[in-house]
Amino acid sequence: MSYHLKTLTQLRAGLASRAFSARELTVSFLNRMAAHDGGLNSFITQTPEQALLAADLADKRLAAGETGPLLGIPYAHKDIFCTAGVRTTCASKMLGNWVAPYDASVHQKLAAAGAVMLGKTNMDEFAMGSSNENSAFGAVKNPWDHTAVPVGSSGGSAAAFAARLVPIATGSDTGGSIRQPAAYCGITGIKPTYGRVSRFGMIAYASSLDQGGVLGVSAADCAVMLQAMAGHDARDSTSAPVPVPDYVAQLNQPMAGLRIGVPRQWFTQGLSVSVAARIDDALLELEALGATRVAIDLPDAPLALAAYYLIAPAEASSNLSRFDGVRFGHRCADPQDLNDLYERSRSEGFGAEVQRRILIGTYALSAGYYDAFYVRAQRARRQIAAHFASAFAHCDVIAGPVAPNVAFDLGAHSKDPATMYLEDIYTIPVNLAGLPGMSIPVGFAGGRPVGMQLIGPAFTESRLLSVAHHYQQHTDWHQQIPNAYREDVV
Ligand code: GLN
Repeated sequence: MSYHLKTLTQLRAGLASRAFSARELTVSFLNRMAAHDGGLNSFITQTPEQALLAADLADKRLAAGETGPLLGIPYAHKDIFCTAGVRTTCASKMLGNWVAPYDASVHQKLAAAGAVMLGKTNMDEFAMGSSNENSAFGAVKNPWDHTAVPVGSSGGSAAAFAARLVPIATGSDTGGSIRQPAAYCGITGIKPTYGRVSRFGMIAYASSLDQGGVLGVSAADCAVMLQAMAGHDARDSTSAPVPVPDYVAQLNQPMAGLRIGVPRQWFTQGLSVSVAARIDDALLELEALGATRVAIDLPDAPLALAAYYLIAPAEASSNLSRFDGVRFGHRCADPQDLNDLYERSRSEGFGAEVQRRILIGTYALSAGYYDAFYVRAQRARRQIAAHFASAFAHCDVIAGPVAPNVAFDLGAHSKDPATMYLEDIYTIPVNLAGLPGMSIPVGFAGGRPVGMQLIGPAFTESRLLSVAHHYQQHTDWHQQIPNAYREDVV
């Protein structure tokens, strides 16, 4: 039946007309996961039994005449969302086999909509990383080339979707973790405005930056999923009490007169020539559709990188302090005294990168360094947001690269954190300013996918989705699937 080649809209139509059942659909994706995930390592936990129960429930609701865009649609969750009854690891030994006693708000919403969770995807530990190599459950492979990283931290979700093991997946983005893996795996991803999607039950990395979002085939499919996930949540005090527009209905906003800002400073030596060329092609396509290109200035990307790598670790060091082996998390064997318990539990439970971030964060927050590092980083953050605001006086949407290059080889940067952090130079400013950002596939360089980033003012997700949708109506980069994953699994 090639369900894996269908869009959410097509799957929904098939379910509604009873051409196939939610159970058949679920079984077919579970079979794809069983056949292909061994080579990708995109899942930490597969949940076939729960999925079949959820599918049967969806079939009953469908039989009773209920309709809904996600009713009976399978999906994968990044393993950062708490799911009652199914373990949540955040890819850390610290959480191990922890089973949350409650559901994340996002999970609750998707379950109420009748979506069928197939499993929890691999990621960088506590969402810290840009390659998906920092997982206690092993690195994830890029479906386009198993010698390349899928990029992180939502690398499991991106790889699972790129290989079409699932029809759509959730992710989270603190400094680029939806947009980067989407770009490197040749798929579409959206990180909404900070506060658009509830963080309740999404394990905290850096609370002022974290935001849940979606990875899928197209802007149209992401719109369907985001619609179900977005909205104010009284259980998250930073959730925005802003009404959610109808993203699907607004996919066809006119392109004529749209001003696309292209940051001069983002197309300099740091950017690969072939990536720049693919983005230029995409911009030409958008111009042909009626948009106009305007040059803008966003001078602070390097500053953003430095500020982020102080602010995010500072918040992480505080968020992760709860994992002390007493109240939460892995507990070492035979502690000699309280200090030994803390020290060994945390050294054993956290991986190297997480420990590095805790050290940087604790240092930046300590008396004597707080003003020199943390406060200055917060000032830089305000300046970055102000520069975005000035840029948006001249344009409606900003377009640029997602990352300096295409996916790199596994192991290429793992000994060199500073080079790894440079991967985030074009995505981090967006999180610091709390803005929505997307990544859409715009071609290939050296056989590996290239993504283009679209950024808008706060709460303009529908605009970004509509620009991406127009582009995707006229191109087919988003429909490309790696050879090894095209065929049906029977
Ligand atoms: N690469 C960035 C980091 O390691 C961003 C990660 C993310 O967005 N979760 O912090």
